[in-house]
Amino acid sequence: MTSQLAVRHPAWTIPGYLETRENHLTINGVDALTLVREYDSPLYVFSEPRIRSNIERLKRAGRLVNRPVRFCYASKANSNMRVLKTVRASGIDIEVNSGGELFKALRVGFRPHQIIFNGTSKTDAELDEAVGAGIYSINVDSIYEIELVEKAAQRVGKRANIALRLTPEIGTRSHLGLQTALLTSKFGISYSDVLDAFRRALLHPELLHVSGIHIHVGSQTPDVEPFAEAFKAMWEHLVTLHRETGHALEHINLGGGIPVNYLRDKSMADQLPEHERDMLGAELEPSEVLSAALNVARESARAASAEHLLDRVTILLEPGRSIIADAGLVLTTVRNIKRRPETNDVWLLTDAGYNLLLSMNNYKWYYHLVSASRAEATSDTDYKVAGPLCDSGDVYFDIEREGRLPDYRSLPAAVQPGEVLALLNSGAYSLAQMFHYNGRPLPAAVMVREDGKVDLIRRRDTYEDLVTNDVW
Ligand SMILES: *Cc1c(COP(=O)(O)O)cnc(C)c1O
Repeated sequence: MTSQLAVRHPAWTIPGYLETRENHLTINGVDALTLVREYDSPLYVFSEPRIRSNIERLKRAGRLVNRPVRFCYASKANSNMRVLKTVRASGIDIEVNSGGELFKALRVGFRPHQIIFNGTSKTDAELDEAVGAGIYSINVDSIYEIELVEKAAQRVGKRANIALRLTPEIGTRSHLGLQTALLTSKFGISYSDVLDAFRRALLHPELLHVSGIHIHVGSQTPDVEPFAEAFKAMWEHLVTLHRETGHALEHINLGGGIPVNYLRDKSMADQLPEHERDMLGAELEPSEVLSAALNVARESARAASAEHLLDRVTILLEPGRSIIADAGLVLTTVRNIKRRPETNDVWLLTDAGYNLLLSMNNYKWYYHLVSASRAEATSDTDYKVAGPLCDSGDVYFDIEREGRLPDYRSLPAAVQPGEVLALLNSGAYSLAQMFHYNGRPLPAAVMVREDGKVDLIRRRDTYEDLVTNDVW
């Protein structure tokens, strides 16, 4: 009966935040089972102290390089209003990708000069809102869009601040769907067009203030090299632009993509393909990203005698995942169990499907699964685990048999219906992407505070919410 042995500090624990007490999972000291009793299951749980400490880590990295660095939280990772409020209170800025995210950022109290706006397909209405608010930067995604912003500036009667987003053809070791700096990606202006694009943007200085340059190499980028390469490319464009036109850009935006270690507990890691393992288990410090980027720029600045330009540049980063992913988890209850005698598999059917964790389905993203009810028990038994949706693909393994997820999940022996499980590191791209498929009311979300108090930050849907926007 190895599963009766107490493991007080499993590898997935994070001291002071994610711990165990009397065999239960605790979040900043709050018992996960108490949360489920009070707020029902499934449930999103966030930790305010963890969000704060993730942001502190970024700020420390910024201080280390001893230059002006601004962090703009990529709100698409999680734009729950209370999460945004916590981010704002931590003193950093914000990145938005739609009129809706802009609305939320302003509503929660970010000042216009704290906001940057990315996106490939901005509407005229969105551009008017962004120009009207006077945000720090609209990141233009094509030469065509320069004209759209000019028209918005004309309509609104206000000068717009813009940066140009480039696609430099820089690969990373992340999923293709998460890489954004390849020429096969839909994002950005091709490098061969960059100088023309800047010249075009500088034609009407009364309408546009051209303040920066931007590359986002992608999400969960495990290595420092793509960041350094991107920074170097932007720096060189900045120098060329200055030489050719006299225009000095004020900021270089290195995008997001600082990775999160999803494999702090490596017990299932050997069941993942090597490439996935390296990506998901990445341990890259934001300080390494910043110092590598600056090192290449310094070298090149010295060679071009352009140190005075570098001294004037503010560096922007747009971290999303690295702020919120490991600050959140999903609690789910086992609702049904079955054994298939033919395969000898035990199936656990939970109440958390891919409508709550879309990445588990579309990127086969690995979220470490533990028992919250028996958090100190050894996980030595294999289960097939699946969600509640009426879709064969709603499983916690790779239904396509491409091996991108482990076929089985290890949990303590003799899991029974009613046991509460936790999908860890699931604070990013989860709640922000949830949907009502199968007539499922969306779950509640709670925020655990430093003092151990718990705030409801999203009410659970009622059945009525399922029909509020239908017209019949
Ligand atoms: C998604 C995105 C980010 C955030 O990426 P993370 O991996 O969550 O840090 C930043 N910038 C842009 C332009 C993005 O599209």
